[in-house]
Amino acid sequence: MRNAFGLMLMSLAAATLIATGGWFWNSHRSSAAPQTFAAAQATPAPVHAKPLASRDPIETTGSIPEKAPAAPAPQPKQTCANPDALGVSRVVEIDTTGGPGFGFEHFKQIDFLGDKEVVLSFDDSPWPVNTPAVLKALADQCTKAMFFSIGKHATFHPEILRQVAAAGHTVGTHTWSHANLNSKKLNEQTVKDEIEKGNSAVKLALGTAPAPFFRFPELQHNPAAMAYLGTRNIAMFSCDLDSFDFRAKSPEQVINTVMTKLEKQGKGIILMHDFQKHTAEAMPELLRRLKAGGYKVVFMKPKAPMQTLPEYDEALIKDMKMPVASARPVSSVVQTVSQ
Ligand SMILES: [Zn+2]
Repeated sequence: MRNAFGLMLMSLAAATLIATGGWFWNSHRSSAAPQTFAAAQATPAPVHAKPLASRDPIETTGSIPEKAPAAPAPQPKQTCANPDALGVSRVVEIDTTGGPGFGFEHFKQIDFLGDKEVVLSFDDSPWPVNTPAVLKALADQCTKAMFFSIGKHATFHPEILRQVAAAGHTVGTHTWSHANLNSKKLNEQTVKDEIEKGNSAVKLALGTAPAPFFRFPELQHNPAAMAYLGTRNIAMFSCDLDSFDFRAKSPEQVINTVMTKLEKQGKGIILMHDFQKHTAEAMPELLRRLKAGGYKVVFMKPKAPMQTLPEYDEALIKDMKMPVASARPVSSVVQTVSQ
């Protein structure tokens, strides 16, 4: 989601396990003085048109167990059943020390893709129907992608995010509530909370730490936040090629935008949204077109997992234990033991 709809809609989600406001500490904690290392890497964010606000009702589809689920066991090397699959041509491991930036729209230092090489990336994960559809399309083509999860979405649909991780994709983060971190309305502490609470929520949903990969909502790069991410050794991802799928009117439009830009640029990190219906619908054909066009998928994964901050993990776990009306059947609560 590249728009601001998340917070508006999320306010409807009071029935979910996490209340939308007030639970987290405010400005009584000072953050470390930001360094200026990463800030110098930024170029101004382009102005994006506001996408349409979603009218989807928010529904929690899964729950986060009180005890975090065990981390998924490493998958045995899978063989691909599709002889014409797009596949993965190259896997790259990223050392995120110092918070390197990727994606030429904003970060010009690291040029690691060869001609015809692409990286698939999806924002605003996870979401019912659309994320599973994207996962299926990727699985059918035996290929891998990066997913940047919104903390709130992770708490709404943790089981879907676990499917993303179980399929072997890289799961990074995308703030707690999709706030524009460059907004003048947010102070430094709120910006930090958005980042760290998002990180901890994704970890809690997954049951294991995510990748130290982060993408700013709306690609709004706050220089102080970039410096902070640098101190946290979290890599930042812009993109080379924006699909603008959030404003596409059809799956064909998503495909045409990506393929037209790729023909011009020849390679790049592609930004899409598994949250978006048209993108989910476009994926099977888009992946076929990439294969037919001779493009090769590079899969990015981290050298080491993200180190979340314990105080945010603990605050989130505590918050998840807020009184919840029991969903247990009466028979499991009240049992006749003698009569
Ligand atoms: Zn987004």
